[in-house]
Amino acid sequence: MLKAIETSYKGYRFRSRLEARWALFFDTVRIPWVYEPEGYELPSGRGYLPDFCLPSIGNTLVDVKPLPEDFNGEPHFSEGTKEAQFSEVCWQNGSTQAYALIFGEPGPVEPGGKMSSYVVHAGDYPYYFCVCPWCCRVGLEFDGRGARVCGYQQHHKTEEEAFAALRTTPYRDVRRVDDKCYSFNDPMLLDAFSVVRAHRFGT
Ligand SMILES: [Zn+2]
Repeated sequence: MLKAIETSYKGYRFRSRLEARWALFFDTVRIPWVYEPEGYELPSGRGYLPDFCLPSIGNTLVDVKPLPEDFNGEPHFSEGTKEAQFSEVCWQNGSTQAYALIFGEPGPVEPGGKMSSYVVHAGDYPYYFCVCPWCCRVGLEFDGRGARVCGYQQHHKTEEEAFAALRTTPYRDVRRVDDKCYSFNDPMLLDAFSVVRAHRFGT
């Protein structure tokens, strides 16, 4: 495996350029982040230190990994790794700790196309960064369902009002506002991905 290049960003020394690039993505879309907040002891006795905590996304702990070398378009993660052990602890019944594994570089979702990244959350897939259609807050939701980021009730009294307030793009085909409103391809996110991918880090 190639050795990761330590990368400085905002006064932090990230263990890899990939981690720094995700930190830049979080900043670009205004998701607050804490780097390596706290270590945990796994049932096996090994220590584990997640890369990020995202306080505005339900204190989700996040670990960032390169795309698996055998990646064939089918999202998965390897059993037996520390991440797999930690995910079992988080995803078992009764745990309220949200934990997401992000594989690959920040980039747009291209259904049917080559994926630059994927997110496994609570053992479930696919999760995408997406946008609340009403206030533009960015969240991480199953299938990129923007309506789940805040819920229309946070912004409007009735479904009719919420529906009328939808911005045009990317919600042209939306008929209901109670759950879906897919927004992983919101222009704001696409712009952020372009900025983040073009960024050149020093070392
Ligand atoms: Zn909102």
